[in-house]
Amino acid sequence: MTKTHTLDLARIRAITLDLDDTLWPVWPTIRRAEAALAGWLAVHAPGTAALFADAPALRALRVQVEAGRPDLRHDLSGLRRESIRLALTQAGDDPALAEPAFDCFFAERQRVELFDDALHALEFLAARYPVVAVSNGNADVHRIGIGRYFKDSLSATVLGVAKPDARIFHAGARAAGVAPGAVLHVGDDALLDTRGALDAGLQAAWLNTTGAAWTHGGPAPHATVASLGALCQLLR
Ligand SMILES: [Mg+2]
Repeated sequence: MTKTHTLDLARIRAITLDLDDTLWPVWPTIRRAEAALAGWLAVHAPGTAALFADAPALRALRVQVEAGRPDLRHDLSGLRRESIRLALTQAGDDPALAEPAFDCFFAERQRVELFDDALHALEFLAARYPVVAVSNGNADVHRIGIGRYFKDSLSATVLGVAKPDARIFHAGARAAGVAPGAVLHVGDDALLDTRGALDAGLQAAWLNTTGAAWTHGGPAPHATVASLGALCQLLR
């Protein structure tokens, strides 16, 4: 039988919380945002829109931007904006359109559809603990309208380090005002969230909606839950 960390409820003084695929499904959101961007470009920069409709060309563009801008490694917004700028340039459109084009993408990217139990879970958690968002993505809890549940919100973009790096988890603990050992990190990604949090000395609850096995080394996380509702039950 797999060894498992034992959840120590009494030790939990704060929650760090992943966002994408933990509070809402991320890919439908990104697809809608990309569609909005394509629609914007079709109106304002048709040549670029045609380039964006060509998936291999778009991928090549992204690879080129990533290679040329290692400083944006953890900055998904920056990479997106510079990809748009490069596409505009290559298509002979005005590169300054990158800003309003990105704004269109970004606004739609914040229009997430929360999982059914997400709001209830946020209310539950925020009533009991300081909650700090820790995300590798570019969701903005304030623009989404859930900012009131969070004491702070940390992103890989701002910190310059991404999960599973221990430093982002330790920054989350600092933002919550507690030691790493007093934090329960909650997230869906077994490696980035769960393995990362365990290695950083936090307790970890793995949101495992598919019933996957723990195959990521060491004892299994302190808690494995199929939903945020189940997590709240556990903490009650
Ligand atoms: Mg996630």
